Amino acid sequence: MAERQVRLHIDQPLRPGQAVALSEGQANYLFAVMRLPVGAPVLLFNGQDGEWRAEVAEAAKRRGVLVCREQVRPQVLPPDLWLLFAPLRKERTAFLVEKAVELGVRRLLPVATRYLSGDRFRAEKERAHAVEAAEQCGATFVPEVCALQPLEKLLSGWDGRRLYWADEALAGQGADWPGAPGDPAAILIGPEGGFAAEERERLRVLPFVTPVSLGPRILRAETAALAALTLWQARFGDWQ
Ligand code: SAM
Repeated sequence: MAERQVRLHIDQPLRPGQAVALSEGQANYLFAVMRLPVGAPVLLFNGQDGEWRAEVAEAAKRRGVLVCREQVRPQVLPPDLWLLFAPLRKERTAFLVEKAVELGVRRLLPVATRYLSGDRFRAEKERAHAVEAAEQCGATFVPEVCALQPLEKLLSGWDGRRLYWADEALAGQGADWPGAPGDPAAILIGPEGGFAAEERERLRVLPFVTPVSLGPRILRAETAALAALTLWQARFGDWQ
């Protein structure tokens, strides 16, 4: 089996001949952990310019330089799908973020709900998890990870896209998901405690909200997020 090449997300433009300075962490990973020598190939992406083949030009313990050679894959965006979720305990939020990147979303929006059950949301840490997941799964795009905001604030400035509300009260009812491939969409997953009565009332009257069921059993929030993303991707997304 061919050896898997190291992939790195870089916050710099990627062009032929472009020199890319590594951070201390990246240099440590490439030269101390992966033991790459000068001349070794590395794959780079920055979320805009596709995937590039680069080579190690300088390798030191805490720093290094790569040089971009050629684009090997074009830039590919995931479908215009957002995931709204109430933060969970930190390791479960990290799991949810990692899996959402693998399954394919454009934006991750943590929302504060009445029965918010998790720790506070550490946006910078979760952004780092999203980058690691994109590096590992071959994506050329890293979803935007937004700061925590109240659900109500987000709903009052909504852009009109269809919002699939995973409603635990519908557990056991049919799994009809109206929509069409290519339509911008979002999925809302509630906290472990579920939605409060006033949140349910509010969601029920919004014209852009479509309540959906995720089968007959009550799923943990992170399972519900993965199930909903999978269902949407298989029906309307880029898995076709
Ligand atoms: N405490 C709530 C209860 O027992 O009714 C359950 C909340 S559940 C652990 C967390 C979130 O996952 C829910 O708010 C909902 O968005 C989603 N969810 C879980 N199972 C679901 C199902 N069968 N259908 C729709 N949504 C579901």
